[in-house]
Amino acid sequence: MVKTKHVPSPKVSLAFLNLLILAATVAAAAGSNGLDSPSFKTWRPWPFKKLNKPVVLMISCDGFRFGYQFKTETPNIDLLISGGTEAKTGLIPVFPTMTFPNHYSIATGLYPAYHGIIMNQFTDPITGEVFKRGLDPKWWLGEPLWVTAVNQGLKALTYFWAGSEVHKGSWTCPKGFCPHYNSSVSLEERVDTVLSHFDLPQYEIPDLMMLYFDEPDREGHSYGPDDPRVTNAVSRVDKMIGRVINGLKKRKIFDKVHVILLGDHGMVTNCECDNKVIFIDDLADWIKIPTNWIQAYSPVLAINPQWGRDVKNPAKKNAELVAKMNEALGSGKVENGEFLQVYLKEKLPERLHYSESSRIPPIIGMVGEGLIVKQNRTNVQECYGNHGYDNMFFSMRSIFIGHGPRFRRGKKMPSFENVQIYNVVAEILGLRPAPNNGSYLFTRSLLLPFW
Ligand SMILES: [Zn+2]
Repeated sequence: MVKTKHVPSPKVSLAFLNLLILAATVAAAAGSNGLDSPSFKTWRPWPFKKLNKPVVLMISCDGFRFGYQFKTETPNIDLLISGGTEAKTGLIPVFPTMTFPNHYSIATGLYPAYHGIIMNQFTDPITGEVFKRGLDPKWWLGEPLWVTAVNQGLKALTYFWAGSEVHKGSWTCPKGFCPHYNSSVSLEERVDTVLSHFDLPQYEIPDLMMLYFDEPDREGHSYGPDDPRVTNAVSRVDKMIGRVINGLKKRKIFDKVHVILLGDHGMVTNCECDNKVIFIDDLADWIKIPTNWIQAYSPVLAINPQWGRDVKNPAKKNAELVAKMNEALGSGKVENGEFLQVYLKEKLPERLHYSESSRIPPIIGMVGEGLIVKQNRTNVQECYGNHGYDNMFFSMRSIFIGHGPRFRRGKKMPSFENVQIYNVVAEILGLRPAPNNGSYLFTRSLLLPFW
């Protein structure tokens, strides 16, 4: 990296001035990968827009399933991969593999049981209060990156990231640095707004920028992951990444910004037409479950039994209910029964980290990949895509690519869970991380040691 510090004053010698110009030209060429080296004519005093601090620009593409990058030509994503570090077989989401829990896990480094956003929507089993993506800070536990950043004197920009409009710590979602969510704002406008912050005076440039794209999730839901319209959406996302890259190159800072491209989860076809459905009414010969006990059907079956005051030992009754359900499902007499396994939440496999929260209903059903759970057969059949399933399924994985000074070029990492990312960003920005579920050792394995 070539460093030139100041605009030359009129008093410096001609030889020194020439040296500065040469150095600046080399630096500009290096900063832009040499693709659009400025001529002497267009040269401006360097480092006019150069960054003198680490900056992280994180971009999340909702529902970008790992493997989508092979659907079509993605030259811009490929450019980040070849010049940066990639999770070779994708980024592992947290369970449940839903948008809000995962975006907030990426932001906090915490599993949903610890950050509190246990599903996109849920009812607190104890208080009965309903979470519908509201902004009351009581729902949003832990410390997201933007709070860590501003609490420690850095500047942050969020653009539609789940949870970023919630006021926490020193973070008040400041005007111009935290727009109110509006899905009709084009991806182009989102990119251009973020890029414009690099034109601010050096000290005002946000150290942390977190940008959200709602594609290709929408198309994945509407048509399933294999539809050509999803391929088009992937292509469009790639063009937006190209817009980011070009914007950074134009400002001669492409190799100076840490660009992290990732997604929150994958997508799978859940096609009722293939009879991939489990009906709760089919369990009636073993156990009848009142519909108002069922908070969610699929991809996660969530049951909050209301036993009433007469029942002295509700925990025992819950265990009996689980046993009855599993007996029915394993009987061979319930259609697709083998694709649903029901657990007391504290008995869920430990790898899911999905028990340590009073917000998680007492009984959770793990639904097979792509399966749907419904009450009965009267509902309309639909074919579409979905996510939220066990994070063990490959179809639920997304992508991770890191590009910039602390990321090795052309490196492939084994897959890792997205709770690791909080520490990674904290390390790049020199922040003291809040307690989280990631590991500092992982940060050392991913990042180059020096800025
Ligand atoms: Zn989605």
